[in-house]
Amino acid sequence: MCVRMIYFEKVSKLYNGNRAPALEDITLSVAPKEFISIVGHSGAGKTTLLKMLLAEERPTAGTIFFESVNVHELPSSALHHYRRKIGMVFQDFRLIPHKTAYENIAFAMEAAGRTDEEIASDVPHILELVDLGDKADHFPHQLSGGEQQRVAIGRAIINQPDVIVADEPTGNLDPINTYEVVQILKKINELGTTVIITTHNKGVVDAVDRRVITMDRGHIVRDDAHGQYVL
Ligand code: ADP
Repeated sequence: MCVRMIYFEKVSKLYNGNRAPALEDITLSVAPKEFISIVGHSGAGKTTLLKMLLAEERPTAGTIFFESVNVHELPSSALHHYRRKIGMVFQDFRLIPHKTAYENIAFAMEAAGRTDEEIASDVPHILELVDLGDKADHFPHQLSGGEQQRVAIGRAIINQPDVIVADEPTGNLDPINTYEVVQILKKINELGTTVIITTHNKGVVDAVDRRVITMDRGHIVRDDAHGQYVL
């Protein structure tokens, strides 16, 4: 039996004032431990799909389930807890500039109400995982783009989410930093976390070599098991 972690059932989204829907009748299952790359031209609906999963936007039609829970029926008091199941990574890193690599990651644990002991034991471990054990005291401006993104990935995984969602995580990076970020995401996936990324980078899709979903104008036009980048 195919275990579903995330299930989009006939999801459509028409933003107010638009003629064309951003998503149209999307049905999609994601199993635990998958690594999915979502590709498609700008405007294809990739970000809207992620926003639906995070319950940041409501679908016009259809339902999104996370572990069998309809995420848009969650009361607002439960949304915060729900979103902790999803670690977010962004193209522009979104680190706190006046905090070090260590402090940026620790801050996510503080916000989740974790104890000082937990923070002191977990943050060094995560810094090692993202290969930044020697840069714990560096501020974002002292780190390369790839290193900053690895801090952001550390922050995203520190509270042990079920899924990492990364919207164009290598969009601002050169090929070497891109390669390093992809290797870290692969490692996290191998350790058991589901990973969903959007990307425009064929090299990323090839290096990941896992399921690829191709979107075009609000539709899924391809769903390939292994590394097809066809645009
Ligand atoms: P992608 O991430 O693939 O570039 P998006 O999901 O951002 O695509 O956008 C899909 C479509 O929805 C586009 O036509 C875009 O202009 C439109 N769209 C996205 N966000 C909004 C919004 N907040 N309000 C109105 N239209 C939007």
